[in-house]
Amino acid sequence: MDTDVLIVGAGPTGLMLANQLARRGVRAMIIDRHSGPAQQSRAMAVQARTLEIYSKMGIVDEALARGREGSGASMWANGKWMARIPLGDIGKNLSPFPFVLALGQDDNERIMGAKLQELGVDVQWNTELIAFQQHPSHVDVTLKQPDGSTRELAAAWVAGCDGGRSAVRDMSGITFPGAPYEHTFFVADTEATGPMKPGELNVYMWQDGFHLFFPMRGQDRWRVIGILPKALRARTDLEFEDLKADIRREAGAELSFKACDWFSTYRIHHRCAERFRDRRCFLLGDAAHVHSPAGGQGMNTGLQDAYNLGWKLALVVKGQADAGLLDSYEQERLPVAQRLLRTTDRIFTLLVSDSWVAGLFRTRILARILSQAMTVERIRGAAFRTISQIGIRYRKGPLSQMLASLPEGAPVAGDRFPWLHLKVQPSGPVEDLFQKFDDTRFNLLVIGQPAPVAESLGVGDFIRVHAVADDPENADELARIQVTGPAFYLLRPDGHVALAGRELTVTDVKRYLVEHHLRVDSATASAEQMALRAAA
Ligand SMILES: Cc1cc2nc3c(=O)[nH]c(=O)nc-3n(C[C@H](O)[C@H](O)[C@H](O)COP(=O)(O)OP(=O)(O)OC[C@H]3O[C@@H](n4cnc5c(N)ncnc54)[C@H](O)[C@@H]3O)c2cc1C
Repeated sequence: MDTDVLIVGAGPTGLMLANQLARRGVRAMIIDRHSGPAQQSRAMAVQARTLEIYSKMGIVDEALARGREGSGASMWANGKWMARIPLGDIGKNLSPFPFVLALGQDDNERIMGAKLQELGVDVQWNTELIAFQQHPSHVDVTLKQPDGSTRELAAAWVAGCDGGRSAVRDMSGITFPGAPYEHTFFVADTEATGPMKPGELNVYMWQDGFHLFFPMRGQDRWRVIGILPKALRARTDLEFEDLKADIRREAGAELSFKACDWFSTYRIHHRCAERFRDRRCFLLGDAAHVHSPAGGQGMNTGLQDAYNLGWKLALVVKGQADAGLLDSYEQERLPVAQRLLRTTDRIFTLLVSDSWVAGLFRTRILARILSQAMTVERIRGAAFRTISQIGIRYRKGPLSQMLASLPEGAPVAGDRFPWLHLKVQPSGPVEDLFQKFDDTRFNLLVIGQPAPVAESLGVGDFIRVHAVADDPENADELARIQVTGPAFYLLRPDGHVALAGRELTVTDVKRYLVEHHLRVDSATASAEQMALRAAA
């Protein structure tokens, strides 16, 4: 075998997957047909869930230093300021990163690329996947190399992170149903002054559409996004200059553009692959789903796909799990993509609809409803959970199992385990659990009962045990997530709850692992566990 995993595409999704594999001791080969990293910023929003993952990767400080925290959104209608939606700290107590970070896709790629190099993996640029053939044990792949020659190699697994026009998807015969929207978008990175509230997202709505002004790093730097006016849609030689008059009309005559570094137009599609896997080939990111940029979810969803597949693929490659574990990738991520497509489609249709009623809603009602609603704590929390992607859960997924019902509102199997501060040693300090968890392993959180020592589980180095000390501060913190009395949570490496229940028994944990394709170190596995595995 030439490589365990061939990652096709070094956009954000491919770079995340390569990093996750490398962190877990699997060296993937990552190729891209382009000559180097993309220069355009493209996606701008980095969501809290992505920042949580960046934190585990040791790159969050750099992302925060380069980006800009979104503090709020100013809503304008027909050139008049309507309302402000405060967004700073919107996710207070829900995530260590309670905001949206404005950081261009190019910066995200640069940071992840540098980390990957540090881990000893270089992207092979100017290298294109042109054909492959699947076999039961591997995939034979044909690559076009930088000098134009071809090279054959064998990969155990292929990850198609190759964007909306994915070759891996097409060659796998996986259809990509959906449609393009009729509108054409434009995006421009500009230097501009005007009535925009500095440091905030400025949303300009009028009868026929909207413009978004995203603050970028640097003085008077704004990313402007909108839909092309009907009269300009057919033009093929369009420049930003041609649009200025329209933008000024909607955003106010005081607006002055001094420079434009990047201008692009693009059609948006909403499509979702019918399957995310064909035997040894997987689809992730834009190769699997494309949708409108409403809500800044695109890049982040690809990154979460990679985080979901990364730990599973690493365990399988290292012989610590059966290949059956990989079925859960599609079972968990396809419903997430389908739901995202439905939601972004609904929001986007409302934002771009030419209808008179939609125009009235945009200019008269939307800003007021949003600004009012976002003062209500519960609505702010719900909005943050959705947009930040911390609310994504796999409750119906094949890896989620409840052994006993826990109090109403407590986390259940499939949920991302919430961010808590607890004492995990009786006389020790209060610790940030997200810092404490090791995302290259399973983590077992034991509450209100004696915790087994890790060795007694007989599962080698598979699980880290965290015993929550019996302490009033811990009880208060746990009450915040409705956990009272004894409970335990077995968390997957990606922080989602695998198994949860009341009284912990070693047998239950072992049974879960065995029944869910996980092979534990045979040197340390007990006879009981072997019997369970044989029965499963
Ligand atoms: C103009 C523009 C603006 C956008 N703005 C936003 C936004 O504001 N918010 C948002 O969330 N999203 C936005 N997006 C979408 C966002 O950029 C994508 O969701 C994101 O890039 C997906 O990342 P990816 O890694 O899955 O795919 P990509 O970034 O498309 O990366 C795929 C990579 O695969 C490589 N590749 C393709 N085929 C092959 C092959 N056969 N062999 C080798 N390599 C191959 C390509 O060269 C490319 O580098 C925008 C997109 C565009 C085009």
